[in-house]
Amino acid sequence: MRSIEATSAYFEQAANQLDLSESMRRLLLTAKREVQVQVPVELDSGEIATFIGYRVQHNAARGPMKGGLRYHPQVDLDEVRALAALMTWKTAVVDIPYGGAKGGIAIDPHQHSARERERITRRFVDVIHDLVGPDHDIPAPDLGTSATEMAWFMSQYSHYHGFAPACVTGKPVEYHGIAGREEATGRGVGILTLKLLSRLGLRAPGTTVAVQGFGNVGSHAALFLKSAECRIVAVSDASGGLYRADGIDVLELSRYQHAHDGRVVGFPGADGIDNRELLALDVDVLIPAALGGVLTAANADAVRARAIVEGANAPVEPDADAMLTERGVTVLPDILANAGGVTASWFEWVQNRQHYRWGIDRVRQELDRILGEGFEQVWQLAQSRQVSLRTAAYMLGVGRVARATVLGGME
Ligand code: NAD
Repeated sequence: MRSIEATSAYFEQAANQLDLSESMRRLLLTAKREVQVQVPVELDSGEIATFIGYRVQHNAARGPMKGGLRYHPQVDLDEVRALAALMTWKTAVVDIPYGGAKGGIAIDPHQHSARERERITRRFVDVIHDLVGPDHDIPAPDLGTSATEMAWFMSQYSHYHGFAPACVTGKPVEYHGIAGREEATGRGVGILTLKLLSRLGLRAPGTTVAVQGFGNVGSHAALFLKSAECRIVAVSDASGGLYRADGIDVLELSRYQHAHDGRVVGFPGADGIDNRELLALDVDVLIPAALGGVLTAANADAVRARAIVEGANAPVEPDADAMLTERGVTVLPDILANAGGVTASWFEWVQNRQHYRWGIDRVRQELDRILGEGFEQVWQLAQSRQVSLRTAAYMLGVGRVARATVLGGME
């Protein structure tokens, strides 16, 4: 299923509940601006390579547009468009004053040296700098990009517009970034998992958790939940998976991973498990934190978890979502579950604009507060309207954007 079909299906479910007019649906689903640009760069070999870059600015009714910049060979307009809309609903669900955007360049970052990636990033900024900026559209790291690309982005943007640390978030701590941003998405997944457990009448100690993907989001979620005494019985990454019934020491695993080329396989004391088996484990909580589209109509029936917390963007396709909801599996949707990253990005932007620094404790405290409020509002709406948490989250996000759109004169 194309990414845009999945996000549009969820949007329509919420729009029906909100009784939105056809004209408002069309306005909210149409991006404000979509650009495709040529990015010609000299490679280390001296050869000229031409790449394609995208930026989709979906909606600015609630504030400057916010969203990642991904480097991946399969990046295309359809995917970027879907992810930009997702950002609009996500920032609205947690009520931070942003709209939604997304961008990308169709390259395989692993095929390029750091110098080439720097030239590609700076050239992309040369082409789009007039379309973005601290009050307009603020990129952040995404698949295939990191704090380093954000530093290059800010440096190049500042050549044109003067010192502007708030033009991009997710920067290195030594270069106008903030402590706590890197862990924020995974920590947020952990915070929200605990709030969900409490609402489901489960206590964290001993709760069993399986995590697909032990990257930035999955590893920080696992570490946070382990510190709350949950039992992380399975984790996986692209190299394979691990299972241990009495719990994996994820702190040790994290150290092992750093020493073993970023892979989890081979970690002592755990059995091997493949991703298909991991998704079907009999656990309290399943956290897909790797890729989109991993739970489909073909494998949703095999899921035995009591709850699913979407660490990744769009890991559950709409058909699978309906099947899981029907079976009473509680799904905490991506637009709330992984909103910790954009929330901490907002904290970074606020500090950059004030030329001020918060300590890590304040970042964590504010993150907990903002996500906690978002969770309670979504939970209450789901209860009062008797809808799934996903539909409630979309209702909250889409409803806020629709109201701001009208108030702002079709902004
Ligand atoms: P990452 O690259 O750090 O980690 C991805 C992990 O998934 C890696 O461990 C990788 O080995 C694993 N993986 C890849 N293919 C796999 C497969 N077939 N089976 C199992 N594991 C596989 O990426 P990340 O930043 O952790 O992002 C993960 C997901 O979360 C993505 O969908 C991303 O869009 C979403 N997300 C990330 C953030 C953020 O702040 N990092 C914010 C919101 C959403």
